[in-house]
Amino acid sequence: MASTPLDSAATIDHYSSRLAADHLVLAHRWLERLDALLTVERRDVFPTHQLLDHIPDLLIQIAEYLRAPEAQEIAANTAVMAKATELGLLRFDQRASVHQLLREYQMFGEILDDFFAREAAVLGHRGDPVATVHTISRATQAVRVLQQKTVDAFITRYVETIERQTAQLRSFSRLVSHEIRQPLGVLQVLTRVMTSRGADPETTPLIESLERNVLRLGEVAGKLERLARLTRRPESTPAEQEVDLAAVTIDVARQLSEMADARGVRFEVAESLPRITADAGRVELVLMNLLANAIKYSDPAKPDRVVSVQWDRAAAPVRILVRDNGLGIPYSKRQRIFDQFVRVHAHLDDELGTQGLGLGLSIVRESMEAMGGTVAVESEDGKGTTFVLDWPASPPHRS
Ligand code: ADP
Repeated sequence: MASTPLDSAATIDHYSSRLAADHLVLAHRWLERLDALLTVERRDVFPTHQLLDHIPDLLIQIAEYLRAPEAQEIAANTAVMAKATELGLLRFDQRASVHQLLREYQMFGEILDDFFAREAAVLGHRGDPVATVHTISRATQAVRVLQQKTVDAFITRYVETIERQTAQLRSFSRLVSHEIRQPLGVLQVLTRVMTSRGADPETTPLIESLERNVLRLGEVAGKLERLARLTRRPESTPAEQEVDLAAVTIDVARQLSEMADARGVRFEVAESLPRITADAGRVELVLMNLLANAIKYSDPAKPDRVVSVQWDRAAAPVRILVRDNGLGIPYSKRQRIFDQFVRVHAHLDDELGTQGLGLGLSIVRESMEAMGGTVAVESEDGKGTTFVLDWPASPPHRS
């Protein structure tokens, strides 16, 4: 084969298309390696086919990501992040451990390392070395971000399950102690009456035995009541914590900074934003989707492209505005943008260099509702868009 050198773009293209072409083979290789680690009994129950719904998809998305513009962050790709989340939930349902998950991702990384070593050898001197290093480091970074997402989803589900079980246990012990107290009270009174009447030598030992047992039952009921009191009303559910909206916003803006720079978009984050009690993961997901969209749908025709995050102190309890001066959303489409798969600017994808599945805003709505809040949109076609986020004063009560 003639050894025409490949430029940077062609080198990246080589890795990306090879990875996409090999995704099934690599997914199988990954499973084989995992399988080799398992004991025979475990191998019988290892959920191969379900995992094979996820791993090839992740590989395809990584392949696409390698080609995506320099500034695009994998964290902003809602589809792949959703897949990584699903994987975490699936592995939780399959009763995997965090240790196993980490080991699986480590192997996933090793399979990719082998793949890149092989493909770099195939390219030999023809490949652009800087592009090769860059591509490998992007893939490694992508695996790290996906791993974090998967583990986060796993742990969140884990915590929710424990919380639910604790709540069930709590209501059970409350029920038991409550249900026992009433008949026990009657028994205690009756035994006292019978003891005071006493004197019959035949029934005395029986009454004494009855008295001992009623006393014992009373102690058990007392313990149960104390237990129920101890576990009553935890301060907050573990998924909820105090979230500093300024810190989360700045962190999300930092994660998206390259993407913003590439499109000449600047962030204006209000100096003071409130703290709320909410699920930090959901808050981050909401802001990540809204800020990434505000960058994606910024207006190249405007010299100053701004995305601001403001606190509307006049609106109670907590209202945050995510405002941009981007393309805006035509009135007729505005009500539907929170529905799944609705994309208003799909026809501009090539021109803007955007891509998407139309899932981001439905995730935003779902997340806000799960936190007991709402999201609304105000927009003027050609002028810009404002997303209005309202959180309740305290998180919804979970039973
Ligand atoms: P996508 O994957 O297409 O970005 P989303 O669900 O996040 O999906 O958004 C749905 C559609 O809403 C987008 O395709 C876009 O047309 C429109 N949209 C979302 N955010 C903005 C924004 N800040 N400015 C203009 N249009 C937006």
